[in-house]
Amino acid sequence: LAEKLQNTLKKLKGKGKLTEKDVAEAMREVKLALLEADVNFKVVKDFVQKVKERAVGAEVLESLTPGQQIIKIVNEELTELMGQTQSKLTFASKPPTVIMLVGLQGAGKTTTCGKLAGLLKKQGKRPLLIAGDIYRPAAIKQLQVVGGQVEVPVFTMGDKMSPVDIAKAGFEHGVNHGNDVIIIDTAGRLHINEELMEELQNVKSTIKPHEILLVVDSMTGQDAVNVAEEFNGKLGIDGVVLTKLDGDTRGGAALSVRSVTHKPIKFVGLGEKLEDLEPFYPDRMASRILGMGDVLSLIEKAQASFDAEKAKDLHNKIKTQQFTFEDFLEQLQQMKNMGPLSQILEMIPGVGGKQLKNLEVDEKELLHIQAIIQSMTREERLNPSMINGSRRKRIALGSGTTVQQVNRLMKQFEQTRKMMKQFTDMEKSAKKGGKFK
Ligand code: GDP
Ligand code: MG
Repeated sequence: LAEKLQNTLKKLKGKGKLTEKDVAEAMREVKLALLEADVNFKVVKDFVQKVKERAVGAEVLESLTPGQQIIKIVNEELTELMGQTQSKLTFASKPPTVIMLVGLQGAGKTTTCGKLAGLLKKQGKRPLLIAGDIYRPAAIKQLQVVGGQVEVPVFTMGDKMSPVDIAKAGFEHGVNHGNDVIIIDTAGRLHINEELMEELQNVKSTIKPHEILLVVDSMTGQDAVNVAEEFNGKLGIDGVVLTKLDGDTRGGAALSVRSVTHKPIKFVGLGEKLEDLEPFYPDRMASRILGMGDVLSLIEKAQASFDAEKAKDLHNKIKTQQFTFEDFLEQLQQMKNMGPLSQILEMIPGVGGKQLKNLEVDEKELLHIQAIIQSMTREERLNPSMINGSRRKRIALGSGTTVQQVNRLMKQFEQTRKMMKQFTDMEKSAKKGGKFK
């Protein structure tokens, strides 16, 4: 999806004016890309319509380039679709706060219980986990293991009592032991059925949780929407946790779950490890879906650690296409101040988390790059196009690398040049648009 949208949007860049036909054409591709990403059909239709209405007409004709304008609109509408601002947990005015996790089997409830408990503990809470899944073999043991890992107590009563009784006894246990957050793990089913819903309704009406969080596997695409709709209709939910966003870049579920249920996505699961839980940021997700990676947070990060004057200088050079190896070298040094390379790469458009995991980012590689650039003459650094075959050979020898490595760097340099150009374009649109963040 990311790639597709990016291509579409790229096509729009550099055109003088956005005509109705341009918009229609672009939106047809946006629509296909969204559908391909398993976004609910109706959601896609509404979305495309909305963007079309906004894009064709006066707004587009203002000072932004057409491409920037449409990126801005698509981005804003996507953000809006996913809830605009970050949605936090509601804590009870009088503790304990009770959080109940529900969802189908394998969605990630038990894992998320552990993640959430760990997160809340870090925030100074005293969570208690309650093992309410009495059906799945080893479910209780699993919760005990994750609870142990985050050092949060787990209340169990085996699998002979009903989930309602376990929840009730667990709640009392928590109250007596000063726990201020109680997280109930529940059983799922392979499919939604009456028995499951009745069971959950019973727990709900007995314990009256402050938060019922539906855990949804983001890999299930369209099904995620149906599941969310059912749970919300029959049980009533307060929010959604979207798991396994690390496994597949399709953000389809995130897009449609919110718009169909009108309930916010509160957290996302980004891996099997217990620290892999993050608050859900609609704006970031929108950017990601648009194939812009976490461009904006990268810009922020860069701004924080870049010398402001140098950055300005650099931007001017990029704008006038004067970005050279000298600047690249300087950039590499700046990057080191920004944090581990892998983290930075992750935020770069088109470099998905998945590819990245298979890709060992070798910090040694950075040293090679530095050596190569340092082996260039100043003239070569300022005018990379003059670096022909024999010069490459010389540079390789001088830096103790191979011609292939030099070639690779030349290519990377070209890409970086393009990427930096993209950033400045986006930044410009951010400044002018104001809301684009
Ligand atoms: P439950 O049946 O809903 O309780 O689901 P579990 O918590 O047992 O999780 C099912 C499987 O999904 C386990 O293998 C988890 O490790 C895995 N899982 C859960 N959340 C995530 C996630 O965010 N990313 C990845 N990659 N795997 C996850
Ligand atoms: Mg479970």
